[in-house]
Amino acid sequence: MSKIRVLGNDLINKIAAGEVVERPASVVKELLENSIDASSTRIEVEIRGGGIDYIRVTDNGCGMEEDDLILSFTRHATSKLTHEDDLWTINTMGFRGEALPSIASVAEVDVSSNNGESGLQITVNGGEISPVKPAAAPPGTSIIVKDLFFNIPARRKFLKTNVTEGNQIYEVVSKIALSKPEVSISFSNENRQVFMTSGDGVLINTVRSIYGKDYADKMIPFDHQFGDINAHGLIGRTDFTRKNRKGQSFFVNNRVIRSPLLSAALEDAFRGLLISQERPIGIIFLSLAPDMVDVNVHPQKAEVRFRNEQQIFQVLKTAVRETLYKSQNKGFTDIPSSSSASWASMKPSSVNYRTENAVKPNIDWNELFNESNHIFEAEQPAPPSSNFKLMGQWQDSYLIFQTEETLEIMDQHAAHERILFNQLQISEKGVISQELAVAVLVELAPDLIEQFESKEKLIRELGYEAQIFGERSIIIRSVPTMVAGNEVETLLEILDSTGEVDEWGSSFDKGLKVMACKGAVKAGQKLSRDEMEELISEWLKTPEKYTCPHGRPVCISYDSLELARAFKR
Ligand code: ADP
Ligand code: MG
Repeated sequence: MSKIRVLGNDLINKIAAGEVVERPASVVKELLENSIDASSTRIEVEIRGGGIDYIRVTDNGCGMEEDDLILSFTRHATSKLTHEDDLWTINTMGFRGEALPSIASVAEVDVSSNNGESGLQITVNGGEISPVKPAAAPPGTSIIVKDLFFNIPARRKFLKTNVTEGNQIYEVVSKIALSKPEVSISFSNENRQVFMTSGDGVLINTVRSIYGKDYADKMIPFDHQFGDINAHGLIGRTDFTRKNRKGQSFFVNNRVIRSPLLSAALEDAFRGLLISQERPIGIIFLSLAPDMVDVNVHPQKAEVRFRNEQQIFQVLKTAVRETLYKSQNKGFTDIPSSSSASWASMKPSSVNYRTENAVKPNIDWNELFNESNHIFEAEQPAPPSSNFKLMGQWQDSYLIFQTEETLEIMDQHAAHERILFNQLQISEKGVISQELAVAVLVELAPDLIEQFESKEKLIRELGYEAQIFGERSIIIRSVPTMVAGNEVETLLEILDSTGEVDEWGSSFDKGLKVMACKGAVKAGQKLSRDEMEELISEWLKTPEKYTCPHGRPVCISYDSLELARAFKR
């Protein structure tokens, strides 16, 4: 007789319950996520006996009709995933359709629901579904889970005390509440309200409702866009830390996750600012295209896998470091603070590498290494503003240098772009321009002529002196010094990329970005040692240095810890 048997439904559900329903907190997590997926704006969570005796989650969401109510307790029945393709672009919290049947196989579950038309009620006890009865339920859904693991004594024995289980539930509810500031979520334990968020959509208000006013007052907000990736949230001031990682909450596309990678990035950004046992606090949200992250790697969906871990690490680290830098402007031994005084004295275009006059020595990598080792051994302390040692240029595009604690790889173009953009922005005299020895006549396509006409003022402010000449040409007499040699190309790009004129401020800024980009040293351009050093020391003085004006990272830094990690030491 064959030894292989198809498992009965009840057993399958119990096995799945082992994965999805580990403890009361996992039940609460699943129920809360279902309420959120049901577009609720108000959710109440009540527990008793550490959630082992009683859990109730009540929402004002879309509710369920009779057929759905029965189907919701059928394994792999879900309203959230219709095509296999959806699995990679999932936006709802749940999607596996396992939670309710799993929970119902190990507890007594009462559901009442009203989809706006009629109230209904069912009971599922150890997997047995009762007939649907009409009930006087308000719109939304209320699910009660009683006597968890009543039919699996072994599992029940593994649970901790009611207090510990209750704390875990608190963690789950508070994190989900943080991830949804637009939903009012309340939590009560043993009939006592622990917190209630307002649901006004403002993260700091949610933090205040959950953790209190003192806590919220010590948080610094941030919001950074790096290409397609957004990092935002709140980080704790450097004098507000914990001894463990309990103060760190991470959300990827608004889903609560655990992530050693993101913790490491956050802690890395604080490096040098905290003493060794202190851990930074952060409530951190990353938003990225759904296909850049796989959420289906963990039964409780508590972990995710990023397509490009290195990139995510850098994005978060850069965002946090920049925020810290801006918020206190001190504490970075390797990064001198910039005062506005030193700003004013800095001449625009003090760093200006032109392709034509750039010296192009062939850098001997070995020699540079030896040389820098030599400098390293010298006793003289370097002046604070040049507290770095150049190691060389790689592929004529990246500058490698070291600071006291880190090894840095800098994108020379991005760094220079940032420097030039900031110089343009703060220049009091406006954009510096120079007259061309011979005026240049440029023929333009009709749509660009139109653009030119509507943007004459903008173009003048950006340092060009140019007029329409004849029907389809313009004549250029003066050009911004920064882009001399590239003036026509730059002008065309400005015309094309500055958008509508009524967005004046942003058009001007976009114009400056184009100029900074065109004026900056290119990737693939050899630089002399002096040029490299000047570029790095200017960069170190530049605010918002960690990103180029388009939001891309400028510098990747490694410390000995990261290298040791990479080498698995
Ligand atoms: P999943 O969330 O993965 O779809 P669940 O077992 O958690 O699977 O839920 C099954 C289905 O029950 C959901 O797809 C949804 O249609 C319905 N459902 C569960 N909870 C609620 C709720 N609070 N409000 C409305 N519908 C719900
Ligand atoms: Mg679910």
